[in-house]
Amino acid sequence: MKGLVVKNTGSWYTVRMDDGQLIDCKIKGTFRLKGIRSTNPVAVGDRVTVADAFITDIEDRRNYIIRKSQNLSKQSHILAANVDQAFLVVTVNYPQTSTTFIDRFLASAEAYRVPVVLIFNKTDLLDTDELRYQQMMVQLYETIGYTCKQISATKGEGVEDLRSLLEGKITLLSGNSGVGKSTLINCLVPHVNLRTAEISDAHNLGQHTTTFSEMIPLGGGWVIDTPGIKGFGTFDMEPEELTSYFREIFHFSKDCRFSNCTHTHEPGCAVLKALEDHYIAPSRYQSYLSMMEDKDEGKYRESY
Ligand code: GDP
Ligand code: ZN
Repeated sequence: MKGLVVKNTGSWYTVRMDDGQLIDCKIKGTFRLKGIRSTNPVAVGDRVTVADAFITDIEDRRNYIIRKSQNLSKQSHILAANVDQAFLVVTVNYPQTSTTFIDRFLASAEAYRVPVVLIFNKTDLLDTDELRYQQMMVQLYETIGYTCKQISATKGEGVEDLRSLLEGKITLLSGNSGVGKSTLINCLVPHVNLRTAEISDAHNLGQHTTTFSEMIPLGGGWVIDTPGIKGFGTFDMEPEELTSYFREIFHFSKDCRFSNCTHTHEPGCAVLKALEDHYIAPSRYQSYLSMMEDKDEGKYRESY
């Protein structure tokens, strides 16, 4: 029988079988990923075969999101597989989400080829200047090609709009702590009653250290809620690759004199020219530079 892994806690996996029943399973045998040593060979989002409460086979993944462990074991943890899109919840204030954080998330999502929708939450709290700033951000990111939504999760404003985007898809929900992810999920599916801000605080104090991923059924789709996970994890890349993950920078880079241009100092750099001519936003270029610096210092880490 086949099903979808909807929850992973330690060595236990909850599988939603195609007939709708939920079965708690363990793994039988070994599943190896090429070149990856993973602490969990099966992840939330995997399509699996189940026999007698054992997962015996997994289908090939379209993609997967991985987190390298902090220690030296070189082991990785697969956070989710077969992700269709990511919703990045951001707030202009209370707390302020930095553009560097947004751009790093977007760049890593490009690397995984996962489309991102930017959700600007807590719109109800913003004053005129902050609203104007939010509008500027929306314009910037929509021009680059990302869908943006402005909502208030507590007031339910703009939330209905999100349903059609979620329909039939596996969506990873991300964003800094406190931006309103749990509030948004509770608004979309009231019966789930997720951990509240108080419990999130307990997470931060390290009282609850188990990392687990869970998929929440939503209409015809699923939302993956990964506590404590902000981004797409570590990835290693050359400067040319990094350029390709900043869509508009990539667009202009085609006209750079040197094919291996890093867009920092080179003569004939079309990116620097576009920056000067205001075709590229300084905040985006700064984010690009900051990711380049990570690379230089050899500290491409997931914590951003
Ligand atoms: P999470 O850490 O991203 O899951 O954030 P929470 O959902 O726990 O929200 C953090 C705090 O922000 C809570 O006190 C929420 O009530 C509040 N909050 C969330 N969304 C909104 C919103 O749209 N407007 C306002 N005013 N407060 C919000
Ligand atoms: Zn260049």
